[in-house]
Amino acid sequence: MPSSIGVGRILGIRVDIHFSLFLVVAFLSWSLATGFLPGRYPHWSTATYWSTGFVCALSLFVSVLLHEFAHSLVAIRRGYRVEGTTLFLLGGVSSIASESRRATGDFVISVVGPLSSLAIAAIIGIVAVASGGSSPVYAAIEYVAIINLLLGLFNLLPAFPLDGGRVLRAAIWAVTGSFRRASGISTRSGQVLGLLLVGFGVYQVIQGHALQGIWVALVGWFLNRAASASRSQDEVARALERVTVGDVMDASPPTVSRDLTIHEAVFDHFVRGAVRAVIVCEGERILGILSITDVRKVPQAFWADKPVRDIMTPAPLKSL
Ligand SMILES: [Zn+2]
Repeated sequence: MPSSIGVGRILGIRVDIHFSLFLVVAFLSWSLATGFLPGRYPHWSTATYWSTGFVCALSLFVSVLLHEFAHSLVAIRRGYRVEGTTLFLLGGVSSIASESRRATGDFVISVVGPLSSLAIAAIIGIVAVASGGSSPVYAAIEYVAIINLLLGLFNLLPAFPLDGGRVLRAAIWAVTGSFRRASGISTRSGQVLGLLLVGFGVYQVIQGHALQGIWVALVGWFLNRAASASRSQDEVARALERVTVGDVMDASPPTVSRDLTIHEAVFDHFVRGAVRAVIVCEGERILGILSITDVRKVPQAFWADKPVRDIMTPAPLKSL
């Protein structure tokens, strides 16, 4: 995701933070320090409101991180590839991929995030009830419990791309055997729920809860857009399903001799011929392929002297 900064690897998983997150932490600290906390605990100092508000806002993102880690760690155990986790405006996204996905794997990976949030909520909730009181520490513990409860419940909504929508997709996939049908139903559900949330947000604004209403509407709008984007992707994938490599390949690609210099290959073929790769031959025999990627590895000063055979990707090329 662009405009994010990497904060390194935690348990082997790359974690990035999108800049929108800093805005949220600032906004949340402010709204807790000036609204929620003074309303609930009227006798603290301003500094206590702000420091508690800040700790609560940060704890939201630690909670989101734990939620995402639950997804990622289970995914890794099931042999899925985890690229990393990005925290942003509305929470977190983990990039998880696999060549051989299965309904059960998808189901478990999706459901474990919300279940971990609910488990954290239960444990911290018990601690909060047991300790009781009205100290800043208690307020923070209570807030963490509530936020994890909401995180778990919200993500269980059966609307793609929320976790609940993924769980729904995996379940329908397992029952019907059709991933396409499962994806169609769960993304449609995401679109509809997104619109309902926008409607509910507008209703809240009309009722005088402007800030809350705008936030709910924004979340709904993002959900609707993400579900729609997913549907378009499905359509493209469906359209490409019947296209074979043979349909789109170049049956007579440009070829060059092994002794041609890199300079000549670049200017005669890549620049003038507007191709991104050429086949390197010796007579009828294919020796390898020279691509722009190969050329990029060599400083331009050497292009005039080096023959393409020195830097080409040699045969045997990986075949499909
Ligand atoms: Zn999740």
